[in-house]
Amino acid sequence: MIDQRLLELTELVTWFPIRRGVFQRVVGYVRAVDGVSLDVAAGETVALVGESGCGKTTVGRSLLRLVEPRAGSVRFAGEELLGLPPRELRRARRPMQMVFQDPMTALDPRMRVRDILTEGLDAYRIGVNAAERTARARDLLERVRLPTEYLSRYPHEFSGGQRQRIGIARALSVEPRLIVLDEAVSALDVSIQAQILNLLAELQAELGIAYLFVTHDLSVVRYLARRVAVMYLGELVEQAETEPLFAEPLHPYTRGLLAAVPSLDPDVRRIEARVLGDVPSPANPPLGCRFHTRCPEAMARCSREAPPLYRLGRRAVRCFLHETEHGSPNCPGRRAG
Ligand code: SF4
Repeated sequence: MIDQRLLELTELVTWFPIRRGVFQRVVGYVRAVDGVSLDVAAGETVALVGESGCGKTTVGRSLLRLVEPRAGSVRFAGEELLGLPPRELRRARRPMQMVFQDPMTALDPRMRVRDILTEGLDAYRIGVNAAERTARARDLLERVRLPTEYLSRYPHEFSGGQRQRIGIARALSVEPRLIVLDEAVSALDVSIQAQILNLLAELQAELGIAYLFVTHDLSVVRYLARRVAVMYLGELVEQAETEPLFAEPLHPYTRGLLAAVPSLDPDVRRIEARVLGDVPSPANPPLGCRFHTRCPEAMARCSREAPPLYRLGRRAVRCFLHETEHGSPNCPGRRAG
């Protein structure tokens, strides 16, 4: 049973300055995240989906303050994280961990698995002595279904899937309540992807961890995520529970993403209209609807007016095509229902 909100992002804004010249003057901003509101409940999996450059990875990094948001709110277990001084942030960040796409670059090649898995325990003073921490490291390997004799090996001795299991074990070491999975299975073969997704589902069932699954690939989230949020050029364009979104995507961009998903499932509606062309620069997003330069259903007003996020029952969509279907002129972008 899913309980209260664990993570709440409200109108999050993260821009990166563009600097030029010998004096490195700021001449503009890459508007990577531009007013994103999203929440994740304890024990829930939410997928954040979009093409490369849409800002989804920056959302994940912003909530951990690995990059610094310029506005908005990040509340974790009721505590506001933006503005916390470094020492307080370090404490508050412990229950939020991140697993990255490339486990080879995420794991220090000079460290043995034992040291990788006890690093966080040492930092947060978990376990009374080295022997207890090693015992915990052994437990962590068992949790991710790896043999305990791997403790004395180095990352280069493992396959990509095994290294990702070690990355997950490292994240688990400090007993997180939320893990941000940043393209965590994207670099793996399809069969290995399935094994890692199964492992993540088992760990969630055992430990009650919430996941924010950041990915460009809708197909990997279908069986893990309860809800999906679709991002385009720094904004959320659609939010829905997973099955309704796959059965009937509302935003033209979501339809385009789904058209690229290979599926043998007859319940998944096949859409012919794929999204063509490149994503415009987030330093200079189009006026009006940010998607209008690529939208197969764009109307004249779409290049002049920016659509709000309209609420439709338990869903939300940022598109004028759904303006007449709802009663509310605007939606704060939070979970409906
Ligand atoms: Fe397409 Fe217009 Fe809807 Fe934007 S508002 S997604 S351009 S139809």
